[in-house]
Amino acid sequence: MASRRVTRKWEVFAGRNRFWCDGRLMTAPHPGVFVLTLALICSTCALHFAFDCPFLAARVSPAVPVAGAALFLFTMSALLRTALSDPGIIPRAAAAEAAALEAGAGAGGGGGGGAGAGEAGRPPPRAREVLVRGRPVKLKYCFTCKMFRPPRASHCSLCDNCVDRFDHHCPWVGNCVGKRNYRYFYTFVVSLSFLAVFVFACAVAHLALEARGAGLGAALRASPASALVAAVCFLSVWSVLGLAGFHTYLASTDQTTNEDIKGSFSTRRGVSNPNPYSRGNACANCWHVLCGPLAPSLIDRRGVFTIDVKDELPASFARVLAPAAASPAPAPVPAPAPAPASAGEGALAGGGSYTNLFEAGDGPGLARHAYANRSLDLDPVPLHGECRGAPGPRIVLQHRIS
Ligand SMILES: [Zn+2]
Ligand SMILES: [Zn+2]
Repeated sequence: MASRRVTRKWEVFAGRNRFWCDGRLMTAPHPGVFVLTLALICSTCALHFAFDCPFLAARVSPAVPVAGAALFLFTMSALLRTALSDPGIIPRAAAAEAAALEAGAGAGGGGGGGAGAGEAGRPPPRAREVLVRGRPVKLKYCFTCKMFRPPRASHCSLCDNCVDRFDHHCPWVGNCVGKRNYRYFYTFVVSLSFLAVFVFACAVAHLALEARGAGLGAALRASPASALVAAVCFLSVWSVLGLAGFHTYLASTDQTTNEDIKGSFSTRRGVSNPNPYSRGNACANCWHVLCGPLAPSLIDRRGVFTIDVKDELPASFARVLAPAAASPAPAPVPAPAPAPASAGEGALAGGGSYTNLFEAGDGPGLARHAYANRSLDLDPVPLHGECRGAPGPRIVLQHRIS
């Protein structure tokens, strides 16, 4: 029997995520609390199905266990989808790409465009600014991933990855919550609220029917499991309902938990700071956040890793750059030549390390860079412009609003 000779990209993945089933599933590095969540939901529902459902099916309606089972399955599928999928990890820059970024920033320093990054070896500037719908948004440089994070991305210190539209790291679901799994997380929280209320109502109804004529004491003795289920649901339902309400507010305003905690769009010193990502009304925001097109996974974790592909530019990047080069920008943004594959680093980029590419410009004092951005829920959006003059390079984001 020939043994398997291929190495998949998840096997050499740089972050701390754990992969299961040959890379088909992934979780955060320590999914212990997620197992606790599973155990709590499953054991409470098992008591409900074992003790309340038979009684209520006979005395009330056979629809009770059917509704309970449907809610349980829906909640569990949302939980598993949130917990075991890619939350929107942004691949780290390949060695060649990171070097191009630093070289580009350094070369632009001749005209001040590099915002201070001059000599070789010095880190590139730590923040850049882009305009999103006319409002300046800072892009921070991630020293771990060696790239400027797209707008709304943040580095999860537990998973050790930058995650697009980072919401928060949720130990209860054992994963980051980000651009690719937020809708499932929201579905999970809302359906768990319904499930908790339903199971609580069933347990109380069971006890109330048992107590008719016999008293509460007799009912508790007849069905102690119902009392336990009611107590667990009563204690947990408030936090789950609160969370569902909070995330409904976030979805309706197109904010993330991270942005809400930081007060990214709050009024400061009397100066309003409106959210540039908002579609203007709650329905449009909810639709966009929860029902918009799902971004593809960029880490290609089941792809075959070969040393040759790790510095290749993904085909999609060339497509992104093409319209940028044709547009009446100050100068075309050329696609950087694929850098020779270098040893080391290993497999970080095969899935599409497209995040930023810098090219030293020919014009006076210009450092050009192209920035393919998928963080605004659209097709790859070319983001290009010039670093002109010091300080504060500004990149103009060409943002197609759907
Ligand atoms: Zn990072
Ligand atoms: Zn995380």
